[in-house]
Amino acid sequence: MSAQILEMVASDFLYDSTEAALGDLFPGAPAMEPHVDARFNKGSDTIVLDGVKFYAKRVDYHRELDEKFVQWIMDNRQEYPVYGDPSSADGESFELWAQSITDKYFGSPYISGIDTDGYESFLPNGVKGQFFRHEDETYVGLWHQEYGYRAFSRPTVYHVSCYESGYLLDDDKATAYCTACDDVVVDIESGGQHVKRIDRNGEEIEGAPEVSFDDLVSDPVCPNCGADLRVDAQQF
Ligand SMILES: [Zn+2]
Repeated sequence: MSAQILEMVASDFLYDSTEAALGDLFPGAPAMEPHVDARFNKGSDTIVLDGVKFYAKRVDYHRELDEKFVQWIMDNRQEYPVYGDPSSADGESFELWAQSITDKYFGSPYISGIDTDGYESFLPNGVKGQFFRHEDETYVGLWHQEYGYRAFSRPTVYHVSCYESGYLLDDDKATAYCTACDDVVVDIESGGQHVKRIDRNGEEIEGAPEVSFDDLVSDPVCPNCGADLRVDAQQF
């Protein structure tokens, strides 16, 4: 029996759409209702963002640059742990590649990175990102790296389509609304460490009773009328 050599080409590793690429980034994403991008998770006393919807508003899959990255992996990363296999590409590979094509920015190749392990994110742990600039446009490589046995996705290249790349760091923010009286709006920042009552224009209401994040999440009802609260990811 002769060994068959499979010729892999870069396009075998590419995605057809932003949704498909983000779907791989969040393989175990909680199923949420259509148009709902966040929910209270009473079981774990927190808020959970739908990562696919969160990033779909902020980035577009960039097939052309992603293909360049995949081809670079096949050509240059022949050693442990990648062996030229784009589906095993790691964050270090992405950094090396991004360094090789990024615009220099005050002598520095990078703007900043994303690491949901590093702050109180409402996204799952293990979501990593690396911004870079190419021909005056901002891009981000996103991947999911849970060490050990759970999720792993390869770094994938997206164009940052929202006005400010900093909006990609808003995954520790949310806003809660009353579904009935429309009167209570609560602004949540830093993963729940800062909670304040705001009006519909986003202005803080001076002298409003304090809201604790733990109380809010364990019993998300309106302090005015008792109706259920709804929660949304940060809008911009
Ligand atoms: Zn209410």
